[in-house]
Amino acid sequence: MQDLTHYINGAHVKGTSGRYSDVFNPATGEVQARCPLASVEEMNVAVAAAQAAQPAWAATNPQRRARVMMEFVRLLNRDMDKLAEALSREHGKTFPDAKGDIQRGLEVVEYCIGAPHMLKGEFTDGAGPGIDIYSMRQALGVTAGITPFNFPAMIPMWMFAPALACGNAFILKPSERDPSVPLMLAELMEEAGLPKGILQVVNGDKVAVDAILDHEVIQSIGFVGSTPIAQYIYGRGCSNGKRVQCFGGAKNHMIIMPDADMDQAADALIGAGYGAAGERCMAISVAVPVGDETADRLIEKLVPRIEKLKVGPYTAGNDVDYGPVVTAEAKQRILGLVESGIAQGAELVVDGRNFKLQGYEDGFFVGPHLFDRVTPDMDIYTQEIFGPVLSTVRAASYEEALKLAMDHEYGNGTAIFTRDGDAARDFAARVNVGMVGINVPIPVPLAYHTFGGWKKSGFGDLNQHGPDSFKFYTRTKTVTARWPSGIKEGGEFNFKAMD
Ligand code: NAD
Repeated sequence: MQDLTHYINGAHVKGTSGRYSDVFNPATGEVQARCPLASVEEMNVAVAAAQAAQPAWAATNPQRRARVMMEFVRLLNRDMDKLAEALSREHGKTFPDAKGDIQRGLEVVEYCIGAPHMLKGEFTDGAGPGIDIYSMRQALGVTAGITPFNFPAMIPMWMFAPALACGNAFILKPSERDPSVPLMLAELMEEAGLPKGILQVVNGDKVAVDAILDHEVIQSIGFVGSTPIAQYIYGRGCSNGKRVQCFGGAKNHMIIMPDADMDQAADALIGAGYGAAGERCMAISVAVPVGDETADRLIEKLVPRIEKLKVGPYTAGNDVDYGPVVTAEAKQRILGLVESGIAQGAELVVDGRNFKLQGYEDGFFVGPHLFDRVTPDMDIYTQEIFGPVLSTVRAASYEEALKLAMDHEYGNGTAIFTRDGDAARDFAARVNVGMVGINVPIPVPLAYHTFGGWKKSGFGDLNQHGPDSFKFYTRTKTVTARWPSGIKEGGEFNFKAMD
């Protein structure tokens, strides 16, 4: 069995805490590696290396930093297949989906090549007699990020690319479920020209996370994961005086209006509900058809499509729609929620409970499920299932559908399918959710826009990637400079307007 490492100060280093967690191959159920879980001392070593290396990196001009990003993009493309294979092997997602995970991270790296432009400050010439005011965007210093298992390439890159482009050092604490790709990314960044100590990977669990939260050198923390942990990290990080942004769980509603193209809506729901086994924070987990007739037509279109879904290991290449879920515990949790749905009175239209895949009996595969007549009081509605389970909540009117999305505690993404521009505009304007799709089921914004949920899906003022990321990873310093034209006598003691 492989022993994974940390990546500290330019080298792979073995864990010294004596604590490890198992890394599975979710398709076979086998333990394929051990992930070291860092101690506070190991985290401190990484922080010290970052602190020593960061000033020289911040002093490197932004164009040179951008060139490292350019080279990193080339290396990501060079190693795409190798990275995707490692990703699928630990996560379980299909090979094409693993490439998509890397690609959506790579696009943020491409965006960060624009750092010289993004970091330009503001300048007011002649704010007073001989007085100019200018502002600078300066790096924070040592920054850190804690990432979830479901996008082990994309989310680390969403954090470290802007952090590094701004001149910070970055310590990544990836998910202990699939840590290999983050380690490979750190190696590739150094091959691209990044100095040692600027990007480090410290593997671990709560001990490592708490060490980040309490370390006084660390200036900012980015987190993506489940909402209870997001709230914990936001609270403790902020009270320790750090800049923190945390993105949490989701329950994304898709509203299907009676005038929608029902084939298009059904196809969209299949991809958005079951793709990646539902393990996406932007997955659609609730379908809200407006009117019983719409609901009946939708279910009729969905059932044959769901029955045709191909569930299998990533080694089947393009021949599989989704793979296993990440762990046996995740599988048990999902199946437990399915049982609760049945017990609480929802109608299980497609039952995936007895799904078995020949040759992969020990893998963590979950068959697709479809519920109809789900009501807002049921656990399958209130909780994030994070599995291949789609719930249908029938709404009597558009207003009732909108209210459902608005009343849910999560507010990450939502979508409306309609041919009516007026309904779509009204929905986009009124819904209290961070990312909205109009006839687009998974409205993940591209790199040059920003990504972030509302309500219990996001904590903090700024979103991920796009212009917000350059704000998050810098602080503004404003300089007021006077170059007197002649010798002035005496001091000025009044705080006064410039004239
Ligand atoms: P998770 O919250 O279990 O873990 C996320 C990170 O937090 C991991 O690095 C983990 O090691 C760490 N962690 C876990 N328990 C901790 C504790 N008690 N104290 C401190 N740190 C701890 O999430 P996950 O299962 O890896 O990921 C799935 C979740 O992430 C889902 O809820 C999903 O919706 C969410 N997610 C959200 C977004 C978004 O942008 N909003 C994106 C992707 C995933």
